[in-house]
Amino acid sequence: MIHEHDVVIVGAGIAGLYAALESSKHFDTAVVSKVYPTRSHSISAQGGTAAALGSLEEDHWEWHFYDTVRGSDYLGDQDAQEILVREAIEVAYELEHMGCPFSRTDEGKIAQREFGGHYSNYGKGGAIRRMCMAADRTGHAMLHTLYEQCIKHGVRFYSEFFVVSLLVENNVCSGVVAWDMRKGGLRVFHGKTTMFGTGGYARAWKVNTNALSNTGDGMSLVLQAGLPLEDMEFVQFHPTGLFPSGVLVTEGARGEGGYLVNSEGKRFMEKYAAAKMELAPRDVVSRSIQQEIDEGRGIGGKGFVHLDLRHLGREAIMEKLPQIHELILKFAGIDAVTDFVPILPTAHYAMGGIPTNVDGQVIMDAKNTPVPGFYASGECACVSVHGANRLGCNSTMDCAVYGRRTGRAMVRHIQAGMVKPDLPKDGLEKARAKIDWYLGLKGKESPASIRDELQTTMMANCWIFREEKLLKKQLEILKSLQERFKNISVGYKGNRFNTELLDAIELGNILDFAETIVVGALARTESRGAHYRRDFPKRDDVNWLKHTLAWKTDTGIRLDYKPVVITKYKPEERKF
Ligand SMILES: Cc1cc2nc3c(=O)[nH]c(=O)nc-3n(C[C@H](O)[C@H](O)[C@H](O)COP(=O)(O)OP(=O)(O)OC[C@H]3O[C@@H](n4cnc5c(N)ncnc54)[C@H](O)[C@@H]3O)c2cc1C
Repeated sequence: MIHEHDVVIVGAGIAGLYAALESSKHFDTAVVSKVYPTRSHSISAQGGTAAALGSLEEDHWEWHFYDTVRGSDYLGDQDAQEILVREAIEVAYELEHMGCPFSRTDEGKIAQREFGGHYSNYGKGGAIRRMCMAADRTGHAMLHTLYEQCIKHGVRFYSEFFVVSLLVENNVCSGVVAWDMRKGGLRVFHGKTTMFGTGGYARAWKVNTNALSNTGDGMSLVLQAGLPLEDMEFVQFHPTGLFPSGVLVTEGARGEGGYLVNSEGKRFMEKYAAAKMELAPRDVVSRSIQQEIDEGRGIGGKGFVHLDLRHLGREAIMEKLPQIHELILKFAGIDAVTDFVPILPTAHYAMGGIPTNVDGQVIMDAKNTPVPGFYASGECACVSVHGANRLGCNSTMDCAVYGRRTGRAMVRHIQAGMVKPDLPKDGLEKARAKIDWYLGLKGKESPASIRDELQTTMMANCWIFREEKLLKKQLEILKSLQERFKNISVGYKGNRFNTELLDAIELGNILDFAETIVVGALARTESRGAHYRRDFPKRDDVNWLKHTLAWKTDTGIRLDYKPVVITKYKPEERKF
């Protein structure tokens, strides 16, 4: 069956829904999502969304701009970063006017809190209250607001439809093929424009903060369609995951004044970032925690340190961090009002992804040539505003600003006369052959053990501290896992809610894109932002101030590079 729409959007997170809201004001818009829209990972964003509103103290988009550039370790494209911080202000008020239930200051303005990396006075002052918040449920508030608006504007939702292929022929995109998980069967979605808002992929690591659905399908579908991914080696490891699972304890906990202490009871951040302490950028704090653990100063010599919130007092914790208090209680049986919280770094966010320009158009090469009809925004995309390290709260805002821009760009391009590209003749057959291949697997390997090995070896060899020997080892492991994967079995052959089939396809996707992370990290012989090479501990602007592009070929991953856009701030050393 073919579903005809003007705009086809895959993904119902903040990016997909903001784009859908914009395009549905003018054109018939469909949103396809493998989970029910309000179960998208955006729902779990806790701490806030960044905009220099200055509700509580002086702030300017120029300050936010500088912080974002510096936070990105100069790998972000400054044209895209400037758009982000300027439009963030308008978008925060637009969300407020749509009814997003932000917390309030005493004067009734949007409440804001501190987060790492966001400073006042061009980075010379202390941390600044820039994160617009709805207590510690900001993503929940934003996603529900956008979902309501989409319903109001008649967006057509296809929930629990799993996209299995991206239809690209001669570098022109005409839609996607999705498997209807509830009723069974494959459906073609044919659009004048197609957009991915398919989210991140931290599920490639064992310890992570992400939803089960964050398996990076969008990235792998792009690779499988012969298009490149950008800067995949840059993955954010969040400093505070709850030990041992890595479930997120928001940076807002440190923003509200929480301390980090080691087995000696010391606030060890003094040693690593004396000025900014716990509110240094995430890459710095995560490395510091990992180093404390590696050098035996984890609590009881184990793999965690303590987050101390006790001095904040019950009232502040219950008012500003209620969900976090509940989460720590439920997952660890610990009352953060009276006890230390055990934490460790955890895989969190994809800085890299599908390369786009500032209109969300996907690009296919180092010359920035757009792929007609294909767009991406949100965590799956790399525009690139986060460069080598994302600042907290800049992601939900990236999704909102660039989701909105991409929605508007699709409208403009259709209004300018974009016609629906023809569907590839064999698009559906190829998708069916792919599903049949999976259903035909009858080998002896267990997908669960391949997934487990993949996730644990990615932690051992491609984690916060990297080096050539380990990365090479990981590449070998990945290749052997990819081979073993061809020998798994999918026992259940049914067409409806076949979670065994779903798990297998998702695992296949992780195995595909993970290779671009490892190959990119191996090639990049420098340390920048979240990518830290023990064997190359310095940033190398002479050779590496450039973005990685990675293609999947029959003989492995092919790399190319493109320059970073620098408009205002020349790279300088980062000190915190
Ligand atoms: C626990 C946690 C807390 C966070 N806190 C903050 C915060 O406080 N502030 C902040 O700025 N950022 C935060 N982040 C990051 C931020 O929430 C995410 O980067 C952002 O919400 C991603 O939104 P998105 O729209 O790109 O995609 P997501 O919200 O991840 O949605 C992805 C969508 O793609 C769909 N999809 C994927 N693959 C397929 C497929 N094959 N077929 C069909 N549909 C598919 C899914 O169904 C889903 O609808 C947090 C992240 C986590 C994990």
